[in-house]
Amino acid sequence: MTMTTQVLDKILMLACEECGLVIKIPELSCGQKGSCPRCDHTVIKKIRLPYHRVVAYGIACLIMLILSVSFPFMSFSVNGMGQEITLLNTAETLQHFEKSALAILLMLTVLILPAVYILLMLYLYYHAAKVKHLGHINNRPKTVKHLCRVLFKIQPWLMVDVFLIGVLISLVKISALADIGLGNSFWAFCIYSFLVVKCVALVDRTWLWQQFFPMQQIKGVDVGDSHLDHNHVACHMCNQLNPMLTAKHGKCLRCESDLHPYKPQYSLQYAWAYLLVSIVFYIPANLYPMMYTVSLGESEGSTIIGGVILLWEMGSWPIAIVILIASILIPVSKILTLIYLYYSARKRSNDCSYIAIKRMRLYRMTEFIGRWSMIDIFVVAILVAVVQLQNLMSISPGPAAICFAFVVIFTMLSAMSFDPRLFWLVKDKSKYGSELNSIQQ
Ligand SMILES: [Zn+2]
Ligand SMILES: [Zn+2]
Repeated sequence: MTMTTQVLDKILMLACEECGLVIKIPELSCGQKGSCPRCDHTVIKKIRLPYHRVVAYGIACLIMLILSVSFPFMSFSVNGMGQEITLLNTAETLQHFEKSALAILLMLTVLILPAVYILLMLYLYYHAAKVKHLGHINNRPKTVKHLCRVLFKIQPWLMVDVFLIGVLISLVKISALADIGLGNSFWAFCIYSFLVVKCVALVDRTWLWQQFFPMQQIKGVDVGDSHLDHNHVACHMCNQLNPMLTAKHGKCLRCESDLHPYKPQYSLQYAWAYLLVSIVFYIPANLYPMMYTVSLGESEGSTIIGGVILLWEMGSWPIAIVILIASILIPVSKILTLIYLYYSARKRSNDCSYIAIKRMRLYRMTEFIGRWSMIDIFVVAILVAVVQLQNLMSISPGPAAICFAFVVIFTMLSAMSFDPRLFWLVKDKSKYGSELNSIQQ
């Protein structure tokens, strides 16, 4: 019997992090995933050849990252005047315009955090393979716990794929003004983006924790219980069930993260606070120019909506539609949807699970599409870096860019701090309480 099977045999129960239902995990075979019978959230994935595939994709990803920053990314020329930029130049130029916050945001979400994520992933999967081989964890468990926590905390902030779409949109925008050349790093970056997305999809939180620290059984909790039974505290980091806290603050008995007992009011207050901050930033983000264009000595600012109208009038309506969706429709609908969800979160209704599932789907969709609003910020960053031909034609960032970035960041923080278990307010033990649904991926 392999170590993985032994470990999985020991799994007894975990609580679904989205609806709070306590469920039993069945024996999964490779390529299967287990999803919650009540809310359909994927709780565990067991991928084929986990160690080999993750290491192969991770190493390929790092090579592509190095190639992405080593050569010219793209070039731009008008009437014989032109320039060539590397990926790192985009951040440098933003810094030149005293937009350090934007430069840092760009570097973090596109290069630094993905690199840290891939390195941590390689380190942890290498050690997981060693644990499987030796049968016990031989390096410092505290370090492994710490690194696992960092890995899962940075995951939502990787925006390589969003940046790539931003690059493609800027290319179409600039191609109307000048001749564009694509450097070797551009192609490396395309492959790097694909590999980062693939790596994120391969890493499974429940499975990875289980390789190092098997789940522990606690007394007094049954399959079919939930957060409404107040007999356990589920860890948000590793899914371990913990006994109810006696002290005010407690640490998870498996991963040692801070435990957050189910406190509906507390989670809602944080979610509302972040949402209000994002609404406040949304006003200057729309009133001030996103960027200034200097053409033959004349400077002109363009706001988000102004940019969309200009693109439409120029005939680039496909890009106008993308920018309209990413910069106006997504943030506005995300803010409105979150207001609706937070407002209705604690309202009971007759057909609870139907309503809860509908709200849950809306919440998941909002979380998923929110980060795509960063497209416009990345478009501005690329345009500022590429179009710098002094008085002939140059683009500089406007004050709205950073405000808009804050809108995206704070709506993401708001959705993250909201506890979706607030949608599930009725105990329905008779209907659920079976094993996870295991589905072939
Ligand atoms: Zn669930
Ligand atoms: Zn934990």
